[in-house]
Amino acid sequence: MSVAGWEPALGDCARCGEVGPHRHFSVPAGGTVCPACRPTGSAMPSPVTLELMEALLTGDWARADASQGINRRESSGLVAAMLQWHLERGLRSLPLVDRSDARPAVVQPAAPIVVGTGA
Ligand SMILES: [Zn+2]
Repeated sequence: MSVAGWEPALGDCARCGEVGPHRHFSVPAGGTVCPACRPTGSAMPSPVTLELMEALLTGDWARADASQGINRRESSGLVAAMLQWHLERGLRSLPLVDRSDARPAVVQPAAPIVVGTGA
């Protein structure tokens, strides 16, 4: 997700950049959010889960390896929710791209195929 430009914010607020850590996590906002920016419906994952995600993001495998199952499941759920959100948004915007690009003004009928006279 980081390579695709969808890296979640896990420290500072994803919206205003206020220095974290913050407790709330919003999928549409793109990660942790401060109380002022927190949209309704934000998740409140365990701080340990956010630490695990940070460890995975930074390649701190020793710390990630030492994590508990409950935090692994929670981080997996958050990553899946973010991925689904981004993918669905991407697919929904496809028709818009199609409309704004390369729409023929008039659909031309195919030219008649001239078959040889055979003579
Ligand atoms: Zn904020």
